[in-house]
Amino acid sequence: MKSLLLYDLAVVGAGPAGIMAAIRAGQLKKNVVLIERNNSIGKKILISGRGRCNLTNIASLDVFIEKFGRQGNFLRSAFFTFFNHDLIDFFKDRGLELKSERQGRVFPVTDKARSVVDVLTACLRENKVDVRYNSRVKGVEKKDGGFCLDFESQPPVVAKSVILATGGASFKVTGSTGDGFRVAERLGHTIIPLKPGLVPLKTKESWVKELQGLSLRNIRITFRATRKKIVSDVGELMFTHFGVSGPLVLDLSGRVMLLLGDNPEVILEIDLKPGLERAQLEKRLLREFSGQGNTQLKNILKSLLPQRLIKVFSDQLKIDPQKKGNQVTLEERRSIIDLCKGLSLTITGALPIDKAMVTGGGVSTKEIDPRTMQSRIVPGLYFAGEMIDGFAASGGYNLQQAFSTGYLAGSQ
Ligand SMILES: Cc1cc2nc3c(=O)[nH]c(=O)nc-3n(C[C@H](O)[C@H](O)[C@H](O)COP(=O)(O)OP(=O)(O)OC[C@H]3O[C@@H](n4cnc5c(N)ncnc54)[C@H](O)[C@@H]3O)c2cc1C
Repeated sequence: MKSLLLYDLAVVGAGPAGIMAAIRAGQLKKNVVLIERNNSIGKKILISGRGRCNLTNIASLDVFIEKFGRQGNFLRSAFFTFFNHDLIDFFKDRGLELKSERQGRVFPVTDKARSVVDVLTACLRENKVDVRYNSRVKGVEKKDGGFCLDFESQPPVVAKSVILATGGASFKVTGSTGDGFRVAERLGHTIIPLKPGLVPLKTKESWVKELQGLSLRNIRITFRATRKKIVSDVGELMFTHFGVSGPLVLDLSGRVMLLLGDNPEVILEIDLKPGLERAQLEKRLLREFSGQGNTQLKNILKSLLPQRLIKVFSDQLKIDPQKKGNQVTLEERRSIIDLCKGLSLTITGALPIDKAMVTGGGVSTKEIDPRTMQSRIVPGLYFAGEMIDGFAASGGYNLQQAFSTGYLAGSQ
């Protein structure tokens, strides 16, 4: 049999976590192989942030820790070692300027996720990382003080240590099919049950289809079930052909799914004018209606609502949209206010895990040393990225987690 090349390190999975781990180990002059089942790297990066890649957030360390909830503290060392400003410098030093937008979300100025992947590709080359494409790791075995990685139809790879960075189990088309969880489990690790994290929600009402793709900015949403309610901050919601998505919905989806566990349906109310109290809204409507007495209601509503929403809004109102401003009664005006403050939908469920932005659950953090990302069960085995249990709200936190844990694991 052909003699096998012994690597210092084999990194499995070329997502942000694996790529950064391989780059870092390469910078430390290790002989590294990065193994990827696809024919290219960073497929999920390319679809992140709707193709613009919200790669981190300018929030403080405390905010990052809080965003990851019960797993926040586990990530403290990783963030401390390689945080948002380090990541921003990493890209700036390599010629990619970044910008921060609403809520501190950081994007490349090109607005193209491809620019992020291009920098990473160049950096892998610069650090002489051996990248193997079209290579799906089937199993990892501990052997002679190192590891043997098996493939379906290729010769095995041997390495002194291994970083598993195969991502979660969502958006499987990108290559993240949960392989790493099975490998980790066979090596003795506990996998916290997988569930969809940050997932779009389905509605009973089919009128959402008419609004597919429409984003409502600066709105507030409330989810209500028997005796419980969840109120969001002011932010953005997007209509889809099956229901609702967008940052506000995704970030609360986990809690809504818990509510759905106890209730067959949850009501979603959209406050289209969270900045205006009912009385202020009434004043504004009075002004519009008296100022445009001879204008049809559907046209007056244009000053209040996005154009695409007007038909659905009028259908819900059950007021003739042709009616003139000066014919709208007090009762009708009140019903317009009610609808502005609570356009209502019925949530019936969530999309499956494959359609989630991130995977909840994964390798138990109790079995990983947070100072190194090394397994507490198998010395020489490390974990990075989404395959580790825990995730944060949207806003660039999850990609930063992948880059930070990858960097830390690759530094050992
Ligand atoms: C639509 C969408 C948009 C998102 N937008 C954002 C955003 O804007 N900001 C943000 O912070 N987060 C975002 N996320 C989440 C973010 O993309 C992930 O958290 C992040 O990519 C996880 O990185 P990772 O390296 O751990 O895993 P992944 O990016 O999933 O990479 C894992 C890699 O491992 C490879 N692999 C898997 N199994 C094997 C195997 N057996 N052998 C070899 N290779 C294997 C896969 O092909 C893949 O390339 C988004 C997610 C989705 C789905």
